[in-house]
Amino acid sequence: MTPFVTASQVSKRFGSRPPLSARIAARFGGRIDQSVVHALDGVDLTIHKGQALGLVGESGSGKSTLGRIIAGMTTPSEGVVRLDGQPVRAETGRGHKITTRIQVVFQDPFASLDPRMRIGDALAEGPLVHGLTTPVEAKAYVARWLTTVGLDPSAVGRFPHQFSGGQRQRIAIARALAMQPDVLVCDEPVASLDVSIQAQIINLFLALRRELGLTLLFISHDLGVVRHLCDEVAVLYLGRIVEKGPSRDVFAAPAHPYTRALLDALPTLGTGRATFKPIVGEIPSPTAPPSGCHFHPRCGLAIARCQTERPAMVETNGRSVACHLAEGGMAPAL
Ligand code: SF4
Repeated sequence: MTPFVTASQVSKRFGSRPPLSARIAARFGGRIDQSVVHALDGVDLTIHKGQALGLVGESGSGKSTLGRIIAGMTTPSEGVVRLDGQPVRAETGRGHKITTRIQVVFQDPFASLDPRMRIGDALAEGPLVHGLTTPVEAKAYVARWLTTVGLDPSAVGRFPHQFSGGQRQRIAIARALAMQPDVLVCDEPVASLDVSIQAQIINLFLALRRELGLTLLFISHDLGVVRHLCDEVAVLYLGRIVEKGPSRDVFAAPAHPYTRALLDALPTLGTGRATFKPIVGEIPSPTAPPSGCHFHPRCGLAIARCQTERPAMVETNGRSVACHLAEGGMAPAL
C-alpha cells in the first residue's frame, strides 16, 4: 500500500514561559534560564489511505501536538508531514497555506463552536470560503452533512447551547466533514461524553469511515476505544513512538514494556473482581527527558545501556518496536 499521510522525523520543542519572579528579575538585568519542552522527538509515522490509526499514550506524551502538526495547525521544529506526497503546510508567496484536506475534531465541541453563531452558519462558513458550495446551495449543503451525522437538518437555526453534548460533537463532526476532507484527525473526541453517548459517536466514526472512505488519526488515552475503532495503533511515550503495529496484535501481545504497562493499567473484569496494575511512577517532565530510552526510570526490564543509548526502531513479529531487548528480532519476555 502507498503511504497516504507520512510524518518524517518530526520534532517539536516549545520554549516554556519563565516564572513571574524570573521575568521581574530579567527587567532588572537578571538572567533567565528558559527551559525547553521536548514535545516530540524524531517521530516517523505512516497512515495508509482508508486506514484508522490510533495514537495512544499517557497525558503529556505528545499525542495532541503530533495531531496538530499532522493537521498543519502547528509547525514542527524539524521534519515534515506530507499528504499524498505534498507538504501539509506548503510555503506560498504570502506565508503558509494549510491544506483543507485534513480536518480536526476536538475533545470539547462547545469550545470549538462559536456560541453566537447558528449552526447552519457555522457549517456553511468554511465551505463557502473554499468554494465547496454557493450561497444559493449552502442550506441544502449544510442539511446534507447534518443528516450524514444523524441530526435533523431543521436544526440549522439553533445555537450550540441548545444541543446536548453528544449532539454538539455530531455538529463538530459535520462541520469537519463539510470541508470534504480526506483525513480526519480526532483528538480525544469522546473523552468528555457520557459512556452511552461515547458508544454512539464511535459507531458514527465507524460508519463514516466505511461510507466516506475516510482516513482517521484517532488520538485517545482510552485503549478500549482504539482497539474497537482502529486497525493500526502507535504508542507514544514522552515524544517518541515506542511501538506500532496492527492493533489486534499489539493489544493481544504487546512487544514494548511501556505498551504492556499501559495494558496492565487497564481495569479488567475477571472473577467478579476488577484488577489492574498502575504504571510505576509518573511520566517524567518533557523539559528534562531521561537519557537513553526515555522509559528506563520506570521500566522493570531496563539494562545498563538503556540509560545511555536511545533504542532504534526495529521490526519484530510484524510490528515496529523501539526497545533494546527487541533487537535481533526477539520480543522482550514481558
Ligand atoms: Fe525498558 Fe530498556 Fe526496552 Fe527501554 S530499551 S523499554 S528501558 S528494556
